[in-house]
Amino acid sequence: MDLSSTFFPGFVINNLDNKVKNKIKCNVLNMDYAGECPSICPVCGETLIGHGKRTLEITDTPIMGDPGLLHLRIPRRRCSACKYLWQPKIQYVDENHLLTERAFTDISQKAIKQPFSDVGKEYALSVNTVKSIFIDFLNEKKNTLRFTTPAFLGIDEIKIPKLGEITVITDLEHRTLYDMLEGRNQDLLRKYFDELPHPENVLWVCSDMYRPFEKPIHVDLPRARWVVDHYHVVAYANKAMDSVRIHVQNQLSKEKRIKTKKGLAYTLRTRLKRLSTEEQLLIRECRKNSVTNPIAIAFDLKEEFFDIYDKHLNSKADAQEAFAEWEKKIPRDDSFDGFHKLVGTVHNFYEQIFNLWECPIHITNGFTECTNRLIRENSVKGRGTSFDILRGRTLYRKTNLERIEDNGMLLIGPNIPQKGSIFHYEETKDIDDNYNEDESQYFNSYDYDPFIGLRPGIDYDPETGEILQEFEDKEEVEW
Ligand SMILES: [Zn+2]
Repeated sequence: MDLSSTFFPGFVINNLDNKVKNKIKCNVLNMDYAGECPSICPVCGETLIGHGKRTLEITDTPIMGDPGLLHLRIPRRRCSACKYLWQPKIQYVDENHLLTERAFTDISQKAIKQPFSDVGKEYALSVNTVKSIFIDFLNEKKNTLRFTTPAFLGIDEIKIPKLGEITVITDLEHRTLYDMLEGRNQDLLRKYFDELPHPENVLWVCSDMYRPFEKPIHVDLPRARWVVDHYHVVAYANKAMDSVRIHVQNQLSKEKRIKTKKGLAYTLRTRLKRLSTEEQLLIRECRKNSVTNPIAIAFDLKEEFFDIYDKHLNSKADAQEAFAEWEKKIPRDDSFDGFHKLVGTVHNFYEQIFNLWECPIHITNGFTECTNRLIRENSVKGRGTSFDILRGRTLYRKTNLERIEDNGMLLIGPNIPQKGSIFHYEETKDIDDNYNEDESQYFNSYDYDPFIGLRPGIDYDPETGEILQEFEDKEEVEW
């Protein structure tokens, strides 16, 4: 039996045994201390005398396919004069968790992707123990793993049940998740930017129209310019159009309401060039009737608003002129209030919206939106997980760390084990056979790229990234 791989410094192997722990069979290596024992008390200089032996049970990496335990038998000595108690310091053991350091590293890395319960089975540890190890690992990473401050920063927020709002920060140039913050407000962001290494690295920030971002961006990021993500801007055009549609449909009797195969809301949100002939004819029909005509006008306004981006991306002046022209076409009628509000919004964020044309890359928060979907999935699958666990599992994911590393954005590296890669990148086992609802420690590994990683069945506009969904006709329009 070759036990050389389980060599443990300062100890000699006595024998191999086994025991059952947490209902799992474990291989146990009994080892005896083979190091020095002092004979003089380091405190008072008197003689130390034998004070019995003690056995420590330390969890190690699996031994021959089963969970591994080290039973380390250590001597103790006591000073008869000052009662000082000596016992050997054991190298490579994390005494808090009674784990070898290699087990700590392996457990933490596996816990990024695998359910805590699976890792627990491999180590004969309880779910809570694995979780507590993972939390300690995350705290350690907070200090040792730093990424270079990106030049193109994406900021977005996501609401997670029980955790509330989370601010998501991405590196838009390299398409990596940069960080996640618990909460979303000006003070939080100011504090975060204030502590950001090299805040002058940030040249562009892309976000939605959230006015409290203005101060942190302008004050704390001295060279940054703020761009409002065009996805968020055009989303308002869709909402404005929806409000007209709802207004018109409510005037019609149930039978007379306009219906399309996929639902009228969906049809109207589709870009003109992607409409079926049948749908185009239907919109043409709407034009002929004074009651339904506003729907057709709203559709045209939506299309033209999208075209400000689509057709004038090469010239800021042309785009601004197109917006000015568009603004004039909105009927004064109250039923177009959604569009009037949109005009107000564009004027409020005029500089930030049209900054897009000055940005050297076609900046969009599409990647951040995809990251949000991933975070949401992680949180749904791992119900009840804390913010730190959600952040750790999303941030320290294989694809994210690899991409950060590949792009040379790793500022302070992780501890690099002498053998093997920086992180273990093994694939997740098929998560679902033993998925236990109560434990909820499921993690779905799921690689994505902007607008590629969407779940099947979700239709979206490939140009804007806008998600096209079916809406109930009675919905309220939120502003
Ligand atoms: Zn002493």
